Amino acid sequence: MNNKRIYLSLSQQSGFEQEFVQKALDTNWITSGGPNVDDFEIKLENYFNKGAFVTALNSGTSAIHLALILLGIKAGDEVICQSMTFSASANPVLYQGAVPVFVDSESDTWNICPENLEIAIKDRIKKGKKPKAIIAVHLYGIPYKVDEVHAVADRYDIPVIEDSAEALGSTYKGKKCGSFGSFGILSFNGNKIITTSSGGALISNSKKTKERAIFYSNQSKDIAVHYQHSEIGYNYRMSNICAGIGLGQIKMLDKNIEARRENHFFYREIFNEIEDVELSEISDETSFSNFWLNTILVKQNKNKDRERLRLTLEKANIESRPLWKPMHLQPIFMKYPYYGNKVAEELFDKGLCLPSSSNLTTEDKNRIKEVITNFFR
Ligand SMILES: *Cc1c(COP(=O)(O)O)cnc(C)c1O
Repeated sequence: MNNKRIYLSLSQQSGFEQEFVQKALDTNWITSGGPNVDDFEIKLENYFNKGAFVTALNSGTSAIHLALILLGIKAGDEVICQSMTFSASANPVLYQGAVPVFVDSESDTWNICPENLEIAIKDRIKKGKKPKAIIAVHLYGIPYKVDEVHAVADRYDIPVIEDSAEALGSTYKGKKCGSFGSFGILSFNGNKIITTSSGGALISNSKKTKERAIFYSNQSKDIAVHYQHSEIGYNYRMSNICAGIGLGQIKMLDKNIEARRENHFFYREIFNEIEDVELSEISDETSFSNFWLNTILVKQNKNKDRERLRLTLEKANIESRPLWKPMHLQPIFMKYPYYGNKVAEELFDKGLCLPSSSNLTTEDKNRIKEVITNFFR
């Protein structure tokens, strides 16, 4: 049997990338910004609801950083962040010298828990500082509880930054993830549902904010004939070459979503039969997931657990990985406040991400299925 490595999430080309990249090279538009960047932004704006303004940047991380800057987050300010996430959601808080305050997940969507969010806000206010922003994440493509989370945020008048890096194409009540918060962010890193090799985007709801984002991302150049700067600048703009890749990639976004959702139903069939495993699903019919990654919780038995399954898959040259280790357990973030119980910790102990590339073949699926069903037999 073919033993080629099966990866968690691989990029795939549509075949149209070359044409846009070639055009950039032919016209010598090989710097940051340019016609491909403008076109890529328009394509994304059209993809989102009317009124979405998109700024293409060089990463999702820089998009989160700019969102914090545009919200005026300064040293010593407190920013609430979902603990169960990739570190890139939280690092920009430290770039600003601000203080991250971590909040546990709830067990339906594995995303930020609205009750603990409110407990955290109340307690921070009692301690003398109202949090200045909330970073909520649609982890693995599954929308967080948008209504509940935003109701809490609105009650205390705190802006939400919606980390939609993993959720391009996911929706909540028919509206696209990334368009609910004061800011939404996307990532086009190589492992995401579409890629620009490296890239990201900031979604805002005004033209003026978009202009400010472009200003900061392009070294904060004041209007002058010489280089003049009144504010700290950043080199965060997307390059015209990367945007060319993005223009090719966005053509197959819908196809990729369909393929990832098919992967989900493939896994659902397997795990329906296996009692000791719980596949993460949408429990609420108002949500639609792109199922960027399929993730499972493995019940710990005497001789069967998450780590043993991971090693068994590895032996068959199939990549899998524990879920994100919660931020409040990370050495760099441990000293910051945390509100919650042990939901995220338990998810981390039992959770495993399974291969979910858009181009997973039938042969790949057969290999995965065989290893998993043998393991639980
Ligand atoms: C990938 C990712 C990011 C960061 O995006 P980059 O483009 O890699 O900087 C942020 N948050 C989450 C949840 C991610 O998965």
